[in-house]
Amino acid sequence: MSAAFNGARYCWIDGSVVETERALVSAMEPIYLGIFEGIKAYIQGDIGGEGRLCVFSWDQHMDRLWRSAAIDGLKIPYSRDELLKGLKEVVDVNGFRSNIYIQPRIWPMAGEPEEVHVVIPVWRFNTILPSVNPEFSKTRRFMVSSWRRISSDALPPQAKSWANYANSNLAAREAKRCGYDSAIFLDSRGFVSEGTGACLMIVRDGRLITPPVTASILESVTRNLFLEFVPYDLGIPTEVRDLTRAELYASDEVFLCGTGGEVTPITSIDDIKLGVEYPGPITERIADYYSQVLTGKVDKYSNRLTPI
Ligand code: PMP
Repeated sequence: MSAAFNGARYCWIDGSVVETERALVSAMEPIYLGIFEGIKAYIQGDIGGEGRLCVFSWDQHMDRLWRSAAIDGLKIPYSRDELLKGLKEVVDVNGFRSNIYIQPRIWPMAGEPEEVHVVIPVWRFNTILPSVNPEFSKTRRFMVSSWRRISSDALPPQAKSWANYANSNLAAREAKRCGYDSAIFLDSRGFVSEGTGACLMIVRDGRLITPPVTASILESVTRNLFLEFVPYDLGIPTEVRDLTRAELYASDEVFLCGTGGEVTPITSIDDIKLGVEYPGPITERIADYYSQVLTGKVDKYSNRLTPI
């Protein structure tokens, strides 16, 4: 079994739990036309510990999965509750008692454009949130990609489709080849868009600024949540507006946000060092609060936690 599965011996496919190695689809399926979701479940209480697992933002991820299906013309033949039941079975049978990543995948079948396979693979992950992992503060050198983010009039970035990640992969590979950790995309107009697998936020003069949905970004569950709690709970003024490349270079702090990357601080862009403190103080405040939300310590967000 591939190391990427990190212990997930079983997954759920088309209604049953099977060994991941036996969760097979035909070689003829046009899997590049598929969509997916990236979801996390965190142990409650102590973020790095063991105990009760809750999925974070299940409803928001299911909303996006159904929106992606609508955009790409796919029909999901299960209800959200059936998928959640499938997920619980997978977690039980794998015996997981630590943080897990969940990636529901919807794959169209050859010759049946609306018929799909539904697979739920899961695997363990280590959080990089600062209370438990010094990785949070490691140096991250990014470049502005020479590739532009796919635009809505060609391949809509609003759908979480596998095909969109071919664009991300070009930018990520270019960055590695040039000696950087990863890349930031500009959109087709030349404004800042997002990272290869996460949204981007900057801090300037104590304000948080992030590009709008029309800047070719995925409508991120994490970004939406931050736009709620950063101004209202942390009292940090927040703006959603187009950002120029020059503003990136002149930022006090830049970080990525997303389910996978959580809060990922960036040290430099195109070798221009950002701000004076790294990780920046606002980035750290947001990351700390996010850890608390994820682990059930903020009452107003406890409705985002679904026990599994
Ligand atoms: N943009 C891209 C391209 C992504 O792959 C992701 C990860 N799903 C995000 C943004 C962040 O989205 P979310 O907060 O919903 O995980």
